[in-house]
Amino acid sequence: MNYPDFICECQERVFSGTGITSDDAKRLLDTPDEHLSVLGRCAGEITRDFGGTGVDVEQLYNIKKNACSEDCSFCSQSAFFETGIETYQLPPPEEIVKSAQKAKTEGAESYCLVAAWREPSAEDFEKVCNIISMINERVQIDIECSLGFLTGWQAERLYDLDVKRYNHNIETARSKFSEICTTHTYDDRLKTLRIARDAGLELCTGGIIGLGESREQRLEMALELARLAPEEVTINMLVPVPGTPLELQTELPDSEILRMFSVLRFLLPESIIKISGGREARLQDDGAQLLQSGANGIITGGYLTRDGNNAVDDMEMIKEIGLQSQI
Ligand code: SAM
Ligand code: SF4
Repeated sequence: MNYPDFICECQERVFSGTGITSDDAKRLLDTPDEHLSVLGRCAGEITRDFGGTGVDVEQLYNIKKNACSEDCSFCSQSAFFETGIETYQLPPPEEIVKSAQKAKTEGAESYCLVAAWREPSAEDFEKVCNIISMINERVQIDIECSLGFLTGWQAERLYDLDVKRYNHNIETARSKFSEICTTHTYDDRLKTLRIARDAGLELCTGGIIGLGESREQRLEMALELARLAPEEVTINMLVPVPGTPLELQTELPDSEILRMFSVLRFLLPESIIKISGGREARLQDDGAQLLQSGANGIITGGYLTRDGNNAVDDMEMIKEIGLQSQI
């Protein structure tokens, strides 16, 4: 069967609920360049069929910046690398609540409190719970958290505080993980996702493409994400940070980026698939093509240690391609 027919047949199987096999996913990921427009179009049609024309827009707040004990080789916030970014620990709660309010008025659907921790200490966790309660009282916005490893008790506490979703990224393929991090394991990350899921929290997980992994390893990561079936998949494109071991990593071609987002859509037709870090730095069009080729979410207003587009420009971009942000 020729490629366009194969892609359309896989799309039919997704529409019918049968879904695709891992062999199908491999063959889709290997779609030749000349048929990538068919792959992207079919992935975009699946996105709209299952999720409509909405784009999930999220804003982040880095509540604890830098000086992390872990050695993730891509990360500007690891204490192992000299990256020259500022360091702070839990700004005044009022400031975070005000920022949540601003995100809400700018049209963000969700607001994620992120920390450069291996895991929160008991004292810091209490402070985060207090901030969550303040946001709940004063801002109607879905709160997400990304605080590193969690205990079952902490996960249940976040659930009781109406935290909607917990982010914890598998980062890359299992076979690649020990090359990018030695201070914890891939299974440590899977364990945290299990703990969050068991506590009733929705899951947001994914990672980074362009770490030097092979296409087979991107397939391995995509199949793991399909197995985890998170409510949200977050895919970053590596932004090489001076001072980190990956500072000279060559960029992944745009065609590989499109393949990954489109195949994830075939594997996870109902999940939010978010274009995260690297969207402005790595994509000429800020993600407009990916939002029509399988993605249906973005982060706006900046990242943990890098600026990003402002919300007004991103909402404009979403409208120009005929899609809707939440406002
Ligand atoms: N410290 C918490 C943890 O490790 O789970 C929260 C991490 S927070 C969600 C930051 C995420 O941004 C990382 O999990 C990684 O996927 C992504 N990231 C970090 N550095 C990056 C870089 N240089 N380029 C692209 N994505 C990056
Ligand atoms: Fe620490 Fe998270 Fe960065 Fe890894 S990704 S070094 S755990 S802040």
